[in-house]
Amino acid sequence: MIKVSKLTKNYDETVAVDNISFEVKHGEILGFLGPNGAGKTTTMKVLTCFMPPTSGDVTIAGMNVMEDSLSIRQQIGYLPEQNPLYQDMDVVDYLRFVAELRGIPKEQHDSRLRRMMDVCGLEKVISRSIGELSKGYRQRVGLAQAMIHDPQILILDEPTSGLDPNQIVEIRNLIKEIGKEKTVILSTHILSEVQATCDRAIIIDQGKIVADGTLQDLQAAFHGMERITIEIKAPQNGCAEKLRTIENVKQVNEGTPDGEIKCFTIEIEKGQDLREQIFDLTVKEGWKLLELHREVTTLEDVFRQLTKG
Ligand code: ADP
Repeated sequence: MIKVSKLTKNYDETVAVDNISFEVKHGEILGFLGPNGAGKTTTMKVLTCFMPPTSGDVTIAGMNVMEDSLSIRQQIGYLPEQNPLYQDMDVVDYLRFVAELRGIPKEQHDSRLRRMMDVCGLEKVISRSIGELSKGYRQRVGLAQAMIHDPQILILDEPTSGLDPNQIVEIRNLIKEIGKEKTVILSTHILSEVQATCDRAIIIDQGKIVADGTLQDLQAAFHGMERITIEIKAPQNGCAEKLRTIENVKQVNEGTPDGEIKCFTIEIEKGQDLREQIFDLTVKEGWKLLELHREVTTLEDVFRQLTKG
């Protein structure tokens, strides 16, 4: 449905998006994940025909962004990062105004408005001035304006930024609900946003795609290592060598000892749990085990590894 092929976008000397390709299927909720400045907004602006690409091809439902921008805009709803709303307007007047701009026939305005009130939960605030609304409600109004013409595709730039934790949960639930019927691309620099909302994630860093897959795929692909750290009290030297003899231990690093108290980081083959073997060794050797902690690579680690610059 959306096909991005070798897309590059430069701003003078800055390469904001660097030769990226990906596809999005109908009905998918795709998270576009990356640190600030990664190129997410720029990509979204090209997809929504706000800006032409420097090179490459973007087709949406078979239409090209360079040639069919008007038809594409009818298929797309866009919530920009700085949700630009007219503060002095009432919600209802604003949504009527957007319906007008979108070319929706007058006789359909009421039914589309009712639908948006329903889907976005705007009933309570429909006659209020936008300037008086909480940020969460303003974001709902932003979603309503993006969907009023019933587009097949929704592109949401940082849809929960600046919201409080309760509002974040509400907007995420709303996006998930909307995603049952529509294709959604949302950008975020927060991993938990993707975990809470998306089927698939594309991780972008410095204009390039560094990973693309379902969350399970990403975790599996980068689930490279498990690690156990221990602190022991032992008078003798040579503990690291003994730890290395345990099967499936890949590497043992020793921290700076504090007298008899020694600290080790033990890297272990993927999928193994050696806590019992390590415990048994400390007992056998007569070391006093003061602390044992197991770390498993999380998606957060994956994201940090991929985007550490
Ligand atoms: P993100 O949305 O991931 O934070 P952006 O697409 O906004 O990233 O920015 C990507 C890069 O392009 C950044 O280096 C940013 O400074 C630069 N950039 C974005 N917009 C402009 C602009 N209008 N003019 C010049 N450089 C820009």
